[in-house]
Amino acid sequence: MKILAVNAGSSSLKFQLLTMPQETVITSGIVERIGSDYAAFILKVNGEKITMTQPILNHKDAVSLVVDALIKYKAIDSLSEIVGVGHRVVQGGELFKESAIITDEVVEQIRSLNDLAPLHNPANITGIEAFRKALPNVIQVAVFDTTFHQTMSEDAFMYASPYEWYKKYGVRKYGFHGTSHQYVSERAAKILNNPHAKIIVAHLGNGASLCAIKDGKSVDTSMGLTPLEGIPMGTRSGNIDPAVLMLIAAKENKTYGEVLDELNKKSGYLGVSGISNDSRDIIDGMNRGDHRATLAHKIQVKRIADYIGSYYVYMGGLDAICFTAGIGENASEIRRDVLEAVKVLGVTVDPVENEKRGERMISTKDSLVKAFIIPTNEEVMIAREVVKLK
Ligand code: ADP
Repeated sequence: MKILAVNAGSSSLKFQLLTMPQETVITSGIVERIGSDYAAFILKVNGEKITMTQPILNHKDAVSLVVDALIKYKAIDSLSEIVGVGHRVVQGGELFKESAIITDEVVEQIRSLNDLAPLHNPANITGIEAFRKALPNVIQVAVFDTTFHQTMSEDAFMYASPYEWYKKYGVRKYGFHGTSHQYVSERAAKILNNPHAKIIVAHLGNGASLCAIKDGKSVDTSMGLTPLEGIPMGTRSGNIDPAVLMLIAAKENKTYGEVLDELNKKSGYLGVSGISNDSRDIIDGMNRGDHRATLAHKIQVKRIADYIGSYYVYMGGLDAICFTAGIGENASEIRRDVLEAVKVLGVTVDPVENEKRGERMISTKDSLVKAFIIPTNEEVMIAREVVKLK
């Protein structure tokens, strides 16, 4: 059976067509710069990459283009072969404890959470609506970034802010990257042959978060009400004293919104190093002896290690640390230095395995706590949820 996994952003649409339950990818692609005259549609099919540049006004046109291309390039013979579409939705709030079959009511519920994810949920809804029109007779499922973290207990998800903020406005930690944390931790539990394993997943990409998993359930995670909280990222500051907002707004004559924007877009690797948001440039800078690039790396390593230590204590021990996403899967220097920083917990890195790529154990055989690289696969997770609800 063929399932489409979709990730719609405000000006982009990523998709993957998979055969389930085999979990093989038939084709994948991305439409970028939707809304412009120079939108790009990149399709990978039969090992070939096809790029088209043309005006694409909106998500509805982008979806028509994708659907037509699937037939034109023979990924499918007819639309009836697609039996379900899974949509990534960033914020499910407390309304969605599981993935949901999309109905008019579910769309309205997702819309009701827009205040909690103003940059993401409206775009996700646009994608959902376009696919519901293009494929009206097919089951469509919403898969939320937050669902996996709905198992956190109150002491982990509540802020110590006025309780009424939570009651009135839903101010609490929700956490994100849930499909990735779930995919990677399930894989690790399988490798360890222990469904009760205590696992920490470090999802380190442009966005980055850590998650503590016990008995297959998320018990804590580093992102919060929004993806700004937690460890520093490519351009995000991660945790910072909120009083900084007031100071910088006053000193630079900016609104809180503008300062918040700088914490989201001009901080993290980019802000500290002044070089780049890309970990490859930070590592190059570090190797050249650039002070600020080295500092950006050191802050990153310390903050990740802080979370690992705290999750070790919170879970009462640890079986494995897993690295995933662009940086986690590729940047051996970051894995090496993080594992070195937490070696007191009983983890010993294998320097040879750590230099390799792909799924593998990167700790020594006698390491008490194991360490793994486990490439994430959010699309497979989305497709699995569609199959489950079909
Ligand atoms: P996103 O959050 O956008 O999905 P990814 O998981 O694709 O991000 O991660 C993107 C980041 O991964 C890049 O910004 C880069 O810093 C890092 N990255 C990718 N390839 C490498 C590599 N070979 N070595 C080091 N870092 C890498």
